[in-house]
This record gives sequence, C-alpha cells and structure tokens, in this order.
Amino acid sequence: MKTKMRAMVLHRCGEPLELVWKPVPDPGPGQVLVEVEACGVCRTDQHIADGELPEPPQLPLVLGHEVVGRVAALGEGVEDFAVGQRVCIPWLGATCGSCWYCTHDQENLCDSPTFTGYTRDGGYAEFSVADAQFCFALPPQLDPVHAAPLVCAGLIGFRSYRFVGEQAQRLGFYGFGASAHILAQLAVAQGREVYAFVRPGDEEGRRFALELGCVWAGSSDALPPHPLDAAIIFAPVGALVPAALRAVRKGGVVVCGGIHMSPIPSFPYQDLWHERVIRSVANLTRRDGTEFFKAIENVPIRTHVETYPLEKANEALDALRRGQLKGAAVLVIS
Ligand SMILES: [Zn+2]
Ligand SMILES: [Zn+2]
Repeated sequence: MKTKMRAMVLHRCGEPLELVWKPVPDPGPGQVLVEVEACGVCRTDQHIADGELPEPPQLPLVLGHEVVGRVAALGEGVEDFAVGQRVCIPWLGATCGSCWYCTHDQENLCDSPTFTGYTRDGGYAEFSVADAQFCFALPPQLDPVHAAPLVCAGLIGFRSYRFVGEQAQRLGFYGFGASAHILAQLAVAQGREVYAFVRPGDEEGRRFALELGCVWAGSSDALPPHPLDAAIIFAPVGALVPAALRAVRKGGVVVCGGIHMSPIPSFPYQDLWHERVIRSVANLTRRDGTEFFKAIENVPIRTHVETYPLEKANEALDALRRGQLKGAAVLVIS
C-alpha cells in the first residue's frame, strides 16, 4: 500500500494548482479510501479556483467531485462496498441528517453539508476518501474515463432536467458543454426535441449539438423557431435568463442549473408574465444519483471527453475558462 500520493492542490484562489506529494489519507469510520482512476473537471471547479463562489473553499484544497475509482480500503463499519469495487464520489460528500431539509427529502439543501472538492479534498489526486453512504457503485457497463462527467455534469444536470416537468417536449439548452451534451442524449432518447443555444459564432459547438440529435442549434442571442416548453441554462451567464424567458411559451420554466452566474440584467415584467417560472437548482440528493443511473440504464450515453494527465489540471481548467472544450474534460489518473 502506498503511503504518499500525487495531488494537484489549490493554495490560493486565482492562482494555478500546484503538484504536491501528500500522505495518502486514512478512511475514518463509515468512509472508503478510493484509488482514483479518473476525475472530471467541472465548471464548479473553475468557479472555486477563481474565487467566484460566495463561500470560500477550505484551503489548501484538492479540487474534483466527478471521481471514479476503485475502493482501496474500508473504514470501520462500512459494509455496502468491497475492496476493489468501482465507485464514484459525487459533489454531495455528507449531510447533517437532522436539519429541516435533511428530514424533508431535500438533503441537497442541508444546512451543514460537506462538499467534495470544496469543503473536503476531492479527486484531483491519486487517492481520495469519501463517506460510503454518499458514494455510488459504478454501473459495470461504464468505463471510468467516460463515466466521470456523469457524476456531476450528468447527475446535477439530471436534477435540472427533471424540473422542466414531464410534459415539456421542446427543451432549450443554453450552453452546450458537459451537462447539455449528456442530457441532450437522454432527452432525445425519451422522444423530446432539444434546441441547443451556443455562444455566437461557435460553429463547432453548433455542429456538435446537431450530431447528438438536437433538432435545432443556434446562437444564444437568437430566438428558436418555435416557443419552447422549458429551458435549462447551463452557462454561467446571467444575460441568458431574460433571453431564455423570451424563448419559452406561457407557463414555461427556465431552470438555472449552475452554482454561479454573472449578474442577471433587468428585464420587463412582460417577459415573466403569463406564469413563466425561473428557478435554480442546487447540488444533488442521493436519490437523484440513483434515479439518474437508472434513467440511463437503457440509454447508451456517449460522453465526449478530452483527457489530461493529473499534472495538466491547470490546462484543463484553462480550456474550460476559454470555452474551448467539446464535451467534458477528464483527468486520467491511474
Ligand atoms: Zn442537514
Ligand atoms: Zn460539478
């Protein structure tokens, strides 16, 4: 068993991550030690690294909450997993279990949560510890590198997706990155029409959306050919909120799927009138995870990944910052 591991560490927001050697952590009671095979690079990681979130992260910090790997050791009392089993570690690392939200089926809003790669070290490292109760077994048909983006982009994207409602047929996705490219495949398989909105001039993004079965792809400042039943905004751009409201029909829902957005410009009440709804989505519940993996059981989701070795994590974050990724970035670790 190794005692030291490589990790990419954030020492100060706004500065690049640094490759360091750290002791391999010990799993406490109820925890598992996971040897990380792959870790996705989420938009949230970039917001944390850039200091854009209102709550400062625990520093120094190992980012990463789209973690896939094999259980290397079990802490006291863990019975649900076995050494060698492939698991994923998501963003929701732990909850208090006793606050109003935890006891009302909204553990995603827990008053004292632990978040992987934010308030606890995550997966930009060779090993990571996690609370076993918050990990998922990885379905056997999935390989670690292509599965990594499912763990947050897919899973929290799925929570957003459910808020559009069962009846929504025409869905707009604003920002066609990691989440949208996964959810578009699920929506198309479920017989829905997906309208993809990309940055003005992003021809490659437009083509990518059409390849994945979207019925229309155009610029985020354009109106779709039909009013939409609902829209999900994945891009961290506040100006998309009024744009999406203008694209949805009466009673349409606009879901903001990200943890951070630039300020939302003011807009006339007329754009919200007729029972249009704006809502945000925060974190995930364990039930979201279980239901997401169930929903994709018979839908062969192909995640498009761009891989980087662990020590190139800064380059992956840069590509995300500049909007240069097609699909999702994944660190391949072992
Ligand atoms: Zn709680
Ligand atoms: Zn994430």
